[in-house]
Amino acid sequence: MGGGFNLGKIFGIQFRLHYTWFIIFVLLIVSLSWQLFPLYYPGWNRLLYWVVGTIATLLFFISLVAHELAHSLVGRVNNIPVKSITLFIFGGMAQMTREATKASAELKMAAAGPACSLAIGGMFALLWMLTRGVIEPVAAMAYWLAQINVLLAVFNLIPGFPLDGGRVFRSLMWHFTGNYKRSTRIATRVGQGVAYSFILGGILIMFLLHEWLGGLWLAFIGWFLQNAASISYRQVQWREALHEFTASQVMISDYMVIPPNVTVDELVQGYVLPKGHRFFLVTDEGGVRGILTLHNIKSVSQSNWAMTQVEKIMLPVDQLKVVRPEQDALSIMEQMDENDINQMPVVSEGRVIGLITRDNLIRFLRTRSELGM
Ligand SMILES: [Zn+2]
Repeated sequence: MGGGFNLGKIFGIQFRLHYTWFIIFVLLIVSLSWQLFPLYYPGWNRLLYWVVGTIATLLFFISLVAHELAHSLVGRVNNIPVKSITLFIFGGMAQMTREATKASAELKMAAAGPACSLAIGGMFALLWMLTRGVIEPVAAMAYWLAQINVLLAVFNLIPGFPLDGGRVFRSLMWHFTGNYKRSTRIATRVGQGVAYSFILGGILIMFLLHEWLGGLWLAFIGWFLQNAASISYRQVQWREALHEFTASQVMISDYMVIPPNVTVDELVQGYVLPKGHRFFLVTDEGGVRGILTLHNIKSVSQSNWAMTQVEKIMLPVDQLKVVRPEQDALSIMEQMDENDINQMPVVSEGRVIGLITRDNLIRFLRTRSELGM
């Protein structure tokens, strides 16, 4: 999900705010301070409603961060690293660089979030009981936060993939049947069923009850869930497909060897345009100096092509991570994700024999699916 601000790192995990987050943030503050609190707790000072509304909203988002952190930290202990977490209009979303390889790991990681929300809900319920009848604004806030956190846990426990409950459901099925692919397919179908019933429910609420905003919101969540379920399922399919291939099967091997002092212009005119080469190995008497892809060439503006030598823009060999020809393509994709790199040379007995790029992995999968494989 592109677009947003970096908030910084917590326990080494990058937190981001997506633009759509601000919509829900403002919407929540307004509806709490303007509608909910004045309705149930009349007689406060105007300003007090807004202060309590704003603090409650902030605490809610901290609860959401805690929920996502719970997933991430339990994931990390179970060898499922989480790279970043994005807060957006419908909550939080963690970006994992690999999927669980054991059902038990997935179960623990998926259950950690709702468990955390339930615990936070319990804490606020306790605070509500302690302050009820004593400090009304604090009690009001605690009551709402207890409710919303429990609601968050319950919503996330709906057994449709990729919601937490869907992951719990998948991990249990996976554990009992031993079939990851089939478990994912079933959990995805349930997820899509849930999504469509949200959309239908939203439409019914709009047209039968004339609750326009609430209905629209529910339908939107359904639409989002349906999208998320399809995307996650496709990713699972891709991973499964990649898992079956080795580096030597998916690598590009029609590369050219060029010296470091060739200019970009000479390269483009001589090899890229007429012969369609996309990958070059830069070598001199001392051996391999680096690699060059179309991506590197695009980083130089065309007016500078004639004076830029390829050694200035190549990826130097000491910055490259290499893969072995028999390594499976899925682990290579994961390594690329974890290290934020787009290409890795395939090395056998100290010699570069090919290159794997993110683009060519994706193209490989797309071609396979076009051929119906
Ligand atoms: Zn969760």
